[in-house]
Amino acid sequence: MYCGECKKECEGDWIDVGIGSYEYWGAKGNDVRWVYVSKCCEGDVFKDKKCTIPYEGPDEPDEWEDDYPEDDYREDDRDWITKEEQNALENLGIDTDDMDVRDV
Ligand SMILES: [Zn+2]
Repeated sequence: MYCGECKKECEGDWIDVGIGSYEYWGAKGNDVRWVYVSKCCEGDVFKDKKCTIPYEGPDEPDEWEDDYPEDDYREDDRDWITKEEQNALENLGIDTDDMDVRDV
């Protein structure tokens, strides 16, 4: 792959450009946004030498999946989920085994 900045062949690396922990109207979250950039310039990475086909990177870093439920489903201070929410998460392929599920 090639670096969009210096146009040389490069290696890429994941960096987190999210804003980190935040609180918005009482809703706590952790904003994590991974982007794949070149190691030389932290620029966009492309598959071809002419830098026309963007390279999105290999598999996402592990952290991605771990942060996903917290971003989208923990909208308040609850540290448990309902059966309904569990079903929704399972449907999305998110493992809920270590979550506290309550029948309400
Ligand atoms: Zn570069």
